Amino acid sequence: MYELGHFIDGKRVAGTSGRTANVFNPATGEVQATVALASDAEIAAAVASAKAAQPKWAAMNPQRRARVFMKFVQLLNENMDPLAEMLSREHGKTIEDAKGDIVRGLEVCEFVIGIPHLAKSEFTEGAGPNIDMYSIRQAVGVGAGITPFNFPAMIPMWMFAPAIACGNAFILKPSERDPSVPLRLAELMIEAGLPEGVLNVINGDKSAVDGLLTHPDIAAISFVGSTPIARYVYGTAAMNGKRAQCFGGAKNHMIIMPDADLDQAANALMGAGYGSAGERCMAISVAVPVGEETANRLVEKLIPMVESLRVGPYTDDKADMGPVVTKEAQARIKSLIDRGVEEGAKLLVDGRNFSLQGYEDGFFVGGCLFDNVTPEMDIYKTEIFGPVLSVVRAKTYEEALDLPMKHEYGNGVAIYTRDGDAARDFASRINIGMVGVNVPIPVPLAYHSFGGWKSSSFGDLNQHGTDSIKFWTRTKTVTSRWPSGIKSGAEFVMPTMK
Ligand code: NAD
Repeated sequence: MYELGHFIDGKRVAGTSGRTANVFNPATGEVQATVALASDAEIAAAVASAKAAQPKWAAMNPQRRARVFMKFVQLLNENMDPLAEMLSREHGKTIEDAKGDIVRGLEVCEFVIGIPHLAKSEFTEGAGPNIDMYSIRQAVGVGAGITPFNFPAMIPMWMFAPAIACGNAFILKPSERDPSVPLRLAELMIEAGLPEGVLNVINGDKSAVDGLLTHPDIAAISFVGSTPIARYVYGTAAMNGKRAQCFGGAKNHMIIMPDADLDQAANALMGAGYGSAGERCMAISVAVPVGEETANRLVEKLIPMVESLRVGPYTDDKADMGPVVTKEAQARIKSLIDRGVEEGAKLLVDGRNFSLQGYEDGFFVGGCLFDNVTPEMDIYKTEIFGPVLSVVRAKTYEEALDLPMKHEYGNGVAIYTRDGDAARDFASRINIGMVGVNVPIPVPLAYHSFGGWKSSSFGDLNQHGTDSIKFWTRTKTVTSRWPSGIKSGAEFVMPTMK
């Protein structure tokens, strides 16, 4: 058993609220730690520390800010194995998948090493008679990020790397399910040379989130999690005068055209549907084969693959996927599978009774495969966030396209085809933020921006890429003229360039 507190002013501190939450080992079902849940006083201390540290950090030239990230990237690489182990122990995902989680965050840190170039300003010489005009981007001040359990390394780094590189101070409120890695990342940032107070980590639940959303000294909020909370955070942040970018849930479709390489498509569905036990916002949870023959051939290939999935604890280096995060998540997923059976979908592979010798109390769900799912069913409409793939059969390409188009969520989508015309038409017409052509999980790299459409995202600027530089800075435009250029007396008419 270990106890986790907060990270304020450059060091770990114990919680003082008296409220804690349990942190489980999802593979064994045991409570392995407790995490402190912050009080308003602890939030106030973190914000005060950030506010005090920010002006000096923003005044440091961007090359020196970049060097902190150069060192941090080096430290992440040196600490990869212990970080991955720490992450898997609390999340449950396999070690290799945990390394992917860390590396995708590390890549955002590599991207922000370019901050001297990324944050350069615009200048117009001679915008008017003897007038120069320039627009600069300045840090917003203190920002906060609220992150989900499923990527405890990548998503915190999506947020704090650009925020801090731009000269802000940052308060991270990670998921209370797997808080060890975020705390360790903050320690490594200090080791990399970040001044104390620029990055603080506050653990907590709704009360901590509300404390951040209403704090007058916080200028910007970045959120990633489920859609109802994203909607709430966006609204509350806006009501409190803060800029906000909030990313929510998903239901990602993969359309398989009759000309697709079906072995490639089936392999892609396995990785994208069951990797990380389906607990990815970019997981594929709906397969849409076009035409009966495509559907029959695809399902025939998938059944033995899902049946032979290797499910195990993170200590099993041959496991394809681990348990889900909590007992509640396990119960919710199983009840949604029950619901699918009641609704008349055909459960071709049933993972509900999966049990692993020696890990009987772990939060495991075996891989599940549904066929003949229809758009009216709850299992189609709801984000299951577990190892469950639904096949929805479509007669034509237009019918297939219509499914993700009409779905509430718009995070990711993919098409498998050899037909360039179909792929181009799909990418152009689809109303979804991230599109894969023969790529099942089209998560953009760090120098492009990540974000969905529809109920998967609230706000207009995405994570990482150039959007993140815009989100974490605000524009100031300066118009300047020197006394030798001023010719006339008082002017009462609106100045124009007529
Ligand atoms: P969650 O919404 O339960 O929690 C996210 C964060 O919000 C956590 O830090 C949590 O402490 C906090 N929170 C929970 N309840 C709250 C409340 N009532 N008020 C204020 N804050 C609250 O999400 P989760 O279960 O940790 O993560 C899974 C969800 O996140 C899935 O829906 C998944 O699709 C989504 N997700 C989306 C993306 C994306 O980029 N769109 C990425 C990863 C995960």
